This record gives sequence, C-alpha cells and structure tokens, in this order.
Amino acid sequence: MKPAYKKMLQRMQQKEKAARSRTGEPWFLYILECSDGSFYTGITNNIERRLKMHNDGKASRYTRRHLPVALRYQEECRGRTEALVRECAVKALPRKKKDQLIATFQKPCLNGEGSVKALPRKRKNDLIRKFQIVEGVSGMDQFMREAIKEAKAGLAEGGIPIGAVLVHKGKIIGRGHNQRVQKQSAILHGETAALENAGRQKAAVYRESVMYTTLSPCSMCTGAILLYGIPRVVIGENKTFMGEEELLRGRGVKVEVLQDAECIAMMKKFIKEKPGLWNEDIGK
Ligand SMILES: [Zn+2]
Repeated sequence: MKPAYKKMLQRMQQKEKAARSRTGEPWFLYILECSDGSFYTGITNNIERRLKMHNDGKASRYTRRHLPVALRYQEECRGRTEALVRECAVKALPRKKKDQLIATFQKPCLNGEGSVKALPRKRKNDLIRKFQIVEGVSGMDQFMREAIKEAKAGLAEGGIPIGAVLVHKGKIIGRGHNQRVQKQSAILHGETAALENAGRQKAAVYRESVMYTTLSPCSMCTGAILLYGIPRVVIGENKTFMGEEELLRGRGVKVEVLQDAECIAMMKKFIKEKPGLWNEDIGK
C-alpha cells in the first residue's frame, strides 16, 4: 500500500472512530444469496433496512434482476472505511471461500475466544447484539435451516417439500415434513407433523414456543398454531402460497416472513413439476 494512501486511510479511520463513539453505530459487511444462487456483497449500517431495500428492488441493479435475495452472512466492522476495505477483500474471494465464510455465520461464534464467562462485559454485549441480529433478520436462523432440511427430506422421499420445526426455549422439540404422499395423510403438513412429533406437551410449553415453517401456513396449520397458542411463527416464504398470515396476526401471533430464496426455489420447482399433487394438498 502506498504511504500516502495508508495515511489517508488512517485519517479516515480515526475520523470514523470518533464519529462512531458519538453515534455508537456499527457498519456491516453482508453477503446476499440471489434467487439464481449467485452472491452479492455489500455494506450497510442497517442490515434490516438494506435487506428490505434489496428485496424491494431499490438497492442495486444486480439484485433487482435476481430477486428475491436472502441474507447469508454479515460481520460487524469498525466504521464505514473498514467495511469498504472488507467489501473489496470479500468481493475478490472465490466462491468456495465465500461459502466457508458463510458457514461460519450459521451460529454466533466466539471466534476462538473460549468461554463466554471470561469475556469482558462489552464483548458480551456485542455478542448479544450480534445474536439478536442473526435471530431477527437473517433468515439464516439455524432453525429455518432445520425446517429446510425437513422439506428436503420430504422431497427425497417423493413427497411435498414443506418442513417445520417447533422450538422451545432455543431447543427443537418437534420436527417434521408434509406426509401426503409418504403416509397417504390428509392432515400431516409440515407444521402439524412437527406438532405430532413433539408429542403431548403442556399448554405452557406451546406458549413459549416458536414454529418455523418453510411455507406460509395453510388454514389447517394456522388453526393448530392458534389452538395451542404458539406466539411466534417464522415463515420461509409466502411467494408461492399465501396462507392465513392475516388471521395469525389478527390473533396476536408474531409473524415473520423471511422470503428465503431457497424455500421459494424449492416450492416453485415442485409446483411446476407436480401441479396435481400440490392442488390436492391445498384442497383445490
Ligand atoms: Zn398446512
């Protein structure tokens, strides 16, 4: 690096450090996966807003042509300059290296820092914040990954690719996928299969649980979610099928839709290939 450029970068970093201590605002490098499986790398100081802009087609020409996009990776940077430097570096990485980077993001990790207990307060707060971002926005929540695994297992069995997991206090207590073909079942959808697999539970357990499902819940599954008072539902996508989300919201259930590219692609392909089977499943 040229000394003059290095000096300029240092000055920018100092400036930003000062600005950041005033606003406390971090910047992020992020990687999106587009609907065709390609990656898009960018930076932002507000992941949630930026992701929405991308999916609204207002953030970049590239992503607008490859919608929808899903967040696959993010890392916190100390200011905009650092984020820009990281962006250059990550953009230059081959696909395989990007995949490795993304793999590190699936769980909040300590980056080799050992026990959380031993961390200073500030670092703990950073981790907590990071985890909240992962949970709230990314869609690459580990539990949605598990629901997708279920959907894929169903597809591999010749069934309908919809999966779900029921999560209680951060632990999966039930998981399953649509069983129309496999068990000739009219009532085992992703969500009801996960409920069935969770077995008999106390009312208090359902009331502290989250249902993760790859597809917007149909009226039957919505009914089961309401019956048991499950307070939060995380949905992979509602582009290929819009279930009873308004009913859920109207009854006070927190509904989050990730519009995950993988979930959409999986259902699109399935509906195209087996429209008869799909119509049977949604009662058409
Ligand atoms: Zn259903």
